[in-house]
Amino acid sequence: MSSLFRSLPSVDACLRWLEEDFAATPHSVLLESCRAVLDELREDIRSGRITDEAALSPERVRPRLQAVVEKKDRPRFCRVINGAGVVVHTNLGRSVLAREAREAVRIAASGYSNLEFDLETGERGSRISLVEELLCSLTGAEAALVVNNNAAAVLLMLDTMCKGGEVMLSRGQLVEIGGSFRIPDVMERSGATLREVGTTNRTHLADYERALSENTRAVLWVHPSNYRIIGFHSSVPANELADFAHAHGLPMLEDLGSGSLMDFSRWGLHDEPTVPEVLRQGTDVVTFSGDKVLGGPQAGIIVGKKEYVDRMKKNQLLRALRCDKLTLAALEATLRLYRDPETARRAIPTVRRMSMDPETLKVRAESLRDMLSGALEGRASCSLKEDFSRVGGGSFPEQGMPTTLVCVHPSVCSARQLKMRLLSTNPPLVGRLDGSSFELDPRTMDDDEFPDVARVLKDALDGIGS
Ligand SMILES: *Cc1c(COP(=O)(O)O)cnc(C)c1O
Repeated sequence: MSSLFRSLPSVDACLRWLEEDFAATPHSVLLESCRAVLDELREDIRSGRITDEAALSPERVRPRLQAVVEKKDRPRFCRVINGAGVVVHTNLGRSVLAREAREAVRIAASGYSNLEFDLETGERGSRISLVEELLCSLTGAEAALVVNNNAAAVLLMLDTMCKGGEVMLSRGQLVEIGGSFRIPDVMERSGATLREVGTTNRTHLADYERALSENTRAVLWVHPSNYRIIGFHSSVPANELADFAHAHGLPMLEDLGSGSLMDFSRWGLHDEPTVPEVLRQGTDVVTFSGDKVLGGPQAGIIVGKKEYVDRMKKNQLLRALRCDKLTLAALEATLRLYRDPETARRAIPTVRRMSMDPETLKVRAESLRDMLSGALEGRASCSLKEDFSRVGGGSFPEQGMPTTLVCVHPSVCSARQLKMRLLSTNPPLVGRLDGSSFELDPRTMDDDEFPDVARVLKDALDGIGS
């Protein structure tokens, strides 16, 4: 064993090889890689995994070093191809920005801007004013405010309106959204006390009456988002609840979650009121996400009555929850597209994908299948299957959008192995697994990504064979 230890290459020798192979890589990365590989080799000798000096030769060690440097030096944040058919995929970054929004981000990132500078007076301005007018004209609200995300919007709303008092909420709406956003916990943080009303499946107006007290500050409505109650259930319609709240001098608040500016019922997606509809029903303040169905950057948008939104603008908490210039740039550009619904439908990727018709998807699936059949010949066969895409992000739960999947049936490995391999291709490709097939949904991929899909599938399958 000691002779094996003596045969280990020195750190200096390893460094010299790497400096030849990676002239542009920082020295610190090369040094860390040398140390990591030498540590591994020592451990392999100690544990008896290496018993032969040949395993310590430059021909064997150098490629191992190269692989470690390549992995260490790669940025952790990378593009991923979404073949899973979930349009607003929270784990994959939710919405893809429209070209106009990307351009606005580029400009905001590349130079100084009027982020908080009023170009009419030459004095200090407000970052919120950059998007407030647009939000008001698109939603019909009196005032608007934008913060870091919808969780922050709910926190700011409750902290401003309900701190030290009670908020009434139906037990049917006591929800947890993915990523551990729990309404009762957010409420606790805001210093408001939750007053639960009704039961999980049924809540009546009389339940709200009974729960009223002199400490009640607001009635809250939370969009149940990622689940749906079926069977024996009832809730008070939002407009009746708003009337009830107003009759008792209380504001009606709503966490809408997704918050759409577009009616998707034309495309078979029902039961999600749009933001303007919610405001018309009498809700006083509505919060929603910028990067769910809206198709913009991560943001929490608050719209509603001026007197309430103005109070939120003065809340000290806002300073900690505000969003940055890149977000505001992307949001303004996205909202500008909504001024014409047809433009929004074509230009905003999330909206475009939600409104793609099944015929187009089928034709696109056929073209992807043909491309893959050619590229993967002998390693996998490909077929088509009718199935459903999902909106994701807690929007339109349980409502699928008809699509055609391309199913890849590998012959050199299992579909599960293929799926795992595709996590380390460049770029990684995420798809669905169904028994012996790995499935891809054209809805969440662009046509110009298809050649990449073919290439990484080929890389993954070739890697397995060798
Ligand atoms: C998604 C969602 C949230 C959280 O929004 P983020 O923008 O992710 O912070 C809160 N409430 C509801 C109802 C949601 O659907």
